Amino acid sequence: MRPIEHFIGGQTVVGASGRFGDVFDPNTGQVQARVQLATLSELDRAVENAAAAQKDWAKVNPQRRARVMFEFKRLLELHMDELAHLLSSEHGKVIADSKGDIQRGLEVIEFSCGIPHLLKGEYTQGAGPGIDVFSARQALGVVAGITPFNFPAMIPMWMFGPAIACGNAFILKPSERDPSVPVRLAELMMEAGAPAGILNVVQGDKDVVEAILKHPTIKAVSFVGSSDIAQSVFALGAAHGKRVQAMGGAKNHGVVLPDADLDQTVADLIGAAYGSAGERCMALPVVVPVGEETAERLRAKLLPAIAGLRVGVSTDAEAHYGPVVSAAHKARIESYIQMGADEGAELVVDGRGFALQGHEAGFFLAPTLFDRVTADMKTYQEEIFGPVLQIVRAASFEEALALPSNHQYGNGVSIFTRNGDAAREFADQVEVGMVGINVPIPVPVAYHSFGGWKRSGFGDLNQYGLDGVRFYTRTKTVTQRWPQSVGGTVTDQSFVIPTMR
Ligand code: NAD
Repeated sequence: MRPIEHFIGGQTVVGASGRFGDVFDPNTGQVQARVQLATLSELDRAVENAAAAQKDWAKVNPQRRARVMFEFKRLLELHMDELAHLLSSEHGKVIADSKGDIQRGLEVIEFSCGIPHLLKGEYTQGAGPGIDVFSARQALGVVAGITPFNFPAMIPMWMFGPAIACGNAFILKPSERDPSVPVRLAELMMEAGAPAGILNVVQGDKDVVEAILKHPTIKAVSFVGSSDIAQSVFALGAAHGKRVQAMGGAKNHGVVLPDADLDQTVADLIGAAYGSAGERCMALPVVVPVGEETAERLRAKLLPAIAGLRVGVSTDAEAHYGPVVSAAHKARIESYIQMGADEGAELVVDGRGFALQGHEAGFFLAPTLFDRVTADMKTYQEEIFGPVLQIVRAASFEEALALPSNHQYGNGVSIFTRNGDAAREFADQVEVGMVGINVPIPVPVAYHSFGGWKRSGFGDLNQYGLDGVRFYTRTKTVTQRWPQSVGGTVTDQSFVIPTMR
């Protein structure tokens, strides 16, 4: 059985806990590797390595740190195929989508190449008589990231790209379900010129997460995963004096106004609802047509589009999506489908019971469609995270606006319309952090930043972009003067707080 180890101090470290997690091939349903689950002393070792390396790394000038990022980007491009196959084999997303996962992380690395410019501080000459003020952004020291299974390349890079470019050392605790790509990324960072200890991967489960949150040397923790865990990570990290950003789950709505281009909208909805088997925090699992006529026309166009979807092994270039990540997750999605039917929603297309020929033990689910879902249903209120699309019919624009606004999650939302005025009003009023206008998956580009509202995000800074730079640095502000004493006499003393009167 292939072992997946830790990566500490620039090398593979064989764990000693005797505890392992199974890593499946979701296409076959078979265990393909076993990942070590770290002991606390292994975490300590990683933190010690990181702390020792970080002191010098913070002193390396930002242009040189940027050059490591440039080289890392080149290596990612060089190894794109290999990384995509590795990612796909553990996650189950199709190869093209696996490349997208890597590419979206790579784009944050590109952003991080601009770190000399991004770290430039502020300066005021003559803030008072002979007084200048300047502020600089300094690295925090050792920081950590805890990542979910669904983007094993992109989300680690959202975090360690800006963090390391800013001069920090990083401890990555990836998902135990697809832990190989993060190790490969760390190896490539070393090859790119990052010093040993600057990026460490500590494999593990919730025990290591708790130890990270309590560790006195770790100054900041970035988390992405499900909301209950995000909330408890946020609380525990804050209680231990850390800076924490914790992104959680989602239930993104696509509002369809009567004037939308329905063919394009349906094409967009199908890709956003079923791509990656719905295992995206920016998937679009809820569609809200406005008016009965829009709902009927939309449903009529959705049905053949769903029938045309091809579910296949993740290496099938023709497949629209592959298996879900685990048997347990598949069973959870199936139980939500049953719950939806029991709650009284109309189960229009049932994706359960699908078996892919030759891969009967794989974790495959065909697409599911529900109609007449209502806001009081548990299957509407909770995140399903599978290939399940729910139609919630709204009678008016106001009702459609209220649905995502009143939902517990507020990650992404989209509106499909040709009416600029309505779209503008919607984007302005909706209580959701990321909005698409005729854009089904509005994940902001690398030089903006990513973050949801309400139970989709705890903490006040987003991932990547300028917020990422802010999260991984703290501001130091220096006020300086060079007074000239006249004949050794002190001419300036005050017991009053300095003011600018
Ligand atoms: P998860 O919450 O199960 O796991 C996330 C991380 O937390 C993993 O590294 C895991 O090892 C660790 N973990 C698991 N149980 C823990 C516990 N009890 N205490 C502390 N740590 C624990 O999430 P997942 O299933 O890997 O990922 C899917 C979830 O992530 C979905 O809810 C999805 O919406 C969300 N997600 C959110 C975003 C975002 O940016 N908002 C992005 C991607 C995924």
